[in-house]
Amino acid sequence: AAKAHGRACYRFYDEAMNALAVEQLKMEEELRDAMRNHELELRYQPQIDTNSGEVVSMEALVRWKHPERGMVSPLTFIPVAERTGQIIELGAWVMGEVARHCHYWDSMGLKPFRVCVNISPLQFNQTNLPQSIGKFLKESGMDAGRLELELTESAIMTDAQTNIERLQQLKALGLELAVDDFGTGYSSLSYLKRFPIDTLKIDQSFVADLDSADGAAIVDAIIALSKTLNLRVIAEGIEDKEQLDYLVKRGCDLLQGYYFSRPIYPEDVPDMLRQNFSEALNQS
Ligand code: C2E
Ligand code: MG
Ligand code: MG
Ligand code: MG
Repeated sequence: AAKAHGRACYRFYDEAMNALAVEQLKMEEELRDAMRNHELELRYQPQIDTNSGEVVSMEALVRWKHPERGMVSPLTFIPVAERTGQIIELGAWVMGEVARHCHYWDSMGLKPFRVCVNISPLQFNQTNLPQSIGKFLKESGMDAGRLELELTESAIMTDAQTNIERLQQLKALGLELAVDDFGTGYSSLSYLKRFPIDTLKIDQSFVADLDSADGAAIVDAIIALSKTLNLRVIAEGIEDKEQLDYLVKRGCDLLQGYYFSRPIYPEDVPDMLRQNFSEALNQS
């Protein structure tokens, strides 16, 4: 009986695996169509300077408007694109859109601001990433200084020597580098010091957890670390005034989250840039 039971379990497992593979294959095909059929779009979420209350940068976030499923979250399709390698093409599309939007904003006479672009681990692991970004900058005419690449901690902390060299090549292009979701991976402090990075981005899980002693302690530690290493520090996922007040009091340089704004359409960026959030930043 045990044997039969075992076989039944195995078959069940097998079928579940199979269903997953089919689902993934379907998503892969749909994603290929999505890129071809212009179903992908970018939104931009503002980042606010704590001292001035000005919007100083925007993070580009990809959206998939699926014809039947509606909005598909990047948390669903980015991992698929990462596994299938489609992230390379998707990433190139994102860069192209960012350049196109920057040209559009420039043509409206907006003051230039920094744009942050997420780079997935597979993209970062491409030996030719610095070359292809260099080529992109040349061809688009985009000023490297206004581009910041967001890399995740886990992507850059593995195989550290190769990664330091890749980061140096990227820095040599004149752009800025941020470590996204900081605190969730494990960083060797000695590597961190040698990495040519500009910004630490405190993971939103710690911001969400600020009302606990542990959460607050982790945020304090990351802010202190960034001061020691002379890095810019930004908190993401700020949703309420308590979180905001805490981060302002602790000297976090930049702020991002629904409390200020959800990710917005590129057309709405000009109005957003005219906003000043000093009022909201006043300690209550
Ligand atoms: P991320 O880079 O850590 O981006 C932050 C995520 O938090 C975004 O989700 C953003 O919309 C969301 N967020 C911002 N403020 C708040 C808040 O106050 N509360 C909450 N609960 N969430 C907030 P989104 O847009 O769904 O993106 C999810 C992840 O997908 C990103 O995490 C990033 O890892 C990835 N992703 C998005 N766009 C791209 C892209 O163009 N390329 C790559 N490689 N990855 C991307
Ligand atoms: Mg990010
Ligand atoms: Mg993040
Ligand atoms: Mg994240």
